[in-house]
Amino acid sequence: MLHFNRVSTKFFIILALSWFALAVIMAVVISIGVRNLGVMSTKDDALLIARLLDGQLGAHDFATHTFKDIERPFQIAQTYHIESVELFNKNDSLPNPYAQQAFAQKREIVEIVEHLDGFYARIHVPHLGANGDIEGIMSVTVNAIAFRQKYMQIVWWMFVLILAFIVLEILVLRKIFSPYIAFYEDLCENILETDKGNFKKQLHTKLRDEVGDIALLINTTNAKIDAIICNIESRIPSLMHYQKEHYHSNPLVRINEVIDELVDVYQFKRHIEAKSIDAIEQDFIELFERIGLRLLVFVESTNAKDRLIYPADQSILRAYYQSLNLCHLPFETRHEKHVYPITFQNKPALWTMFYITTNVRWECVFDETEERFNTIFPLLSNYFSTSTSTIENRYLLDLLKANSQKDALTGLNNRAFLDEFSHNITSQAQRIELEYAVMMIDIDFFKKVNDNYGHNIGDKVLRHLALVFTQTIRTSDLAVRYGGEEFLILLLGCPQQDAIHVAQKIKEIFESHAFESDFGESFCCTLSVGISCFPHDANNMALAIKYADIALYAAKNAGRNQILCFAEHMIPRDFDPLKVKG
Ligand code: GH3
Ligand code: MG
Ligand code: MG
Repeated sequence: MLHFNRVSTKFFIILALSWFALAVIMAVVISIGVRNLGVMSTKDDALLIARLLDGQLGAHDFATHTFKDIERPFQIAQTYHIESVELFNKNDSLPNPYAQQAFAQKREIVEIVEHLDGFYARIHVPHLGANGDIEGIMSVTVNAIAFRQKYMQIVWWMFVLILAFIVLEILVLRKIFSPYIAFYEDLCENILETDKGNFKKQLHTKLRDEVGDIALLINTTNAKIDAIICNIESRIPSLMHYQKEHYHSNPLVRINEVIDELVDVYQFKRHIEAKSIDAIEQDFIELFERIGLRLLVFVESTNAKDRLIYPADQSILRAYYQSLNLCHLPFETRHEKHVYPITFQNKPALWTMFYITTNVRWECVFDETEERFNTIFPLLSNYFSTSTSTIENRYLLDLLKANSQKDALTGLNNRAFLDEFSHNITSQAQRIELEYAVMMIDIDFFKKVNDNYGHNIGDKVLRHLALVFTQTIRTSDLAVRYGGEEFLILLLGCPQQDAIHVAQKIKEIFESHAFESDFGESFCCTLSVGISCFPHDANNMALAIKYADIALYAAKNAGRNQILCFAEHMIPRDFDPLKVKG
């Protein structure tokens, strides 16, 4: 099969054509040379015969146009292929222009007649009389057709021989070059295959020269690259969820895509590492958009409650539950990373869930078809599986922090929480000029309760007081277990008078409650309360707390069971307000 665009075919075609052209040129040149030789020899023959005959002719012959001795010229004619001998006397009209020229110039003129059917040399010889005048013109025609046939034959054979030589030469060259051509074609295919990422194809050649070395080198290099690709591909699944068919068919492009994806996934993981859960959730919302998922609902689901993350419209949560019920997707039937087609707001959608911790799940509804989602899902699950430990840690840290800031006995916040909260609230209060009251509450003679009724009863009293707080204060206010039986209440946006009312209410409710001991004895407890106000009494929260404590101390000293507001005179002499850090 000839491929005209191949270099080897082009090479042999050009070689054959140029040799053929050379053969043609040679044939033409030789033909011209041999023909000229023929012309010259025929001319010489004609001249010789003409001169020979002319010597035997006299004026009479020319006058009568006949030869005296007819035998002799014909003998010569047969030897020299003389076609004709014509005699013209000076009175004849000469039909041939060469004869006219010979007559006019008084010299021999040679005429070559050459056409397809014949090849003649005609010589026109003027016959001069004794006085030197022209008596007539003799035109001798020598037939050179036999000569032409001969030299044509020679040229033809030579041409055939040259052609045969060319064919032979090309066949020999082809034989010599065929393994190189085969190698070249194999190499071309090999390069095309490597371009597609197939490095398994080997070059086959019997050549043992430099070309053989090149084949060996290419084969070894390709085998190495193939082994590296196989090794990389076998290790990818340990880093990510990997399905070859989701990537490019060319392994080099595929590995490049995987590396890009891994870099994105790990950069994302690093990006969310130092962030809060809220910020991480926002990053995931952006991620859904970036990888082409149309998010409809994003819910954080715990055993205790569900929290809508996206969209902001809280009414969506109801629509979400409705569609889950409609599609018979109660919690028990939901499995991790499982996709369910649902109808959300009368449109087909997909529901999926990711386990973040054993108690926290992220549930999402996407406006996607299952088919499209399945193509994006591996990428999404890579982001999730890589980031889950980070998110889980964040949840656990938040939980730990929340627990470390909660008092286990009463469920109220503890001092650790107050420290963090006071930092935020102080700057906020100062910025918006928000006034607040700090209330310090201490149960009177609580030690006696423990001593008389036992610690468990003491605990009950503490828990009850915490309950009174939560029932009395607003959700924006803050109750903190400050010490053993000492509590702090922060009333935001509350002037002194209102704070006194709240304290009275707490005091009344608490004192009116009768506790019962393990032995059926009933008893009541009283409270002492100290109040200070920001910015009326103190210019920062630490000082406000200190002044509330001072007011409480004053209440205790004044006989307990009472509410006192802070006043300057209560400050002990050795107390320096500047030493209290805000
Ligand atoms: P005062 O009127 O001066 O406040 O007298 P008080 O007895 O209430 O104060 P004191 O500081 O002498 O005693 C506080 C007691 O609170 C001592 C401690 O046993 C008790 N207490 C602290 N924390 C707890 C707790 O978690 N549970 C129980 N049952 N008792 C606690
Ligand atoms: Mg006490
Ligand atoms: Mg106390």
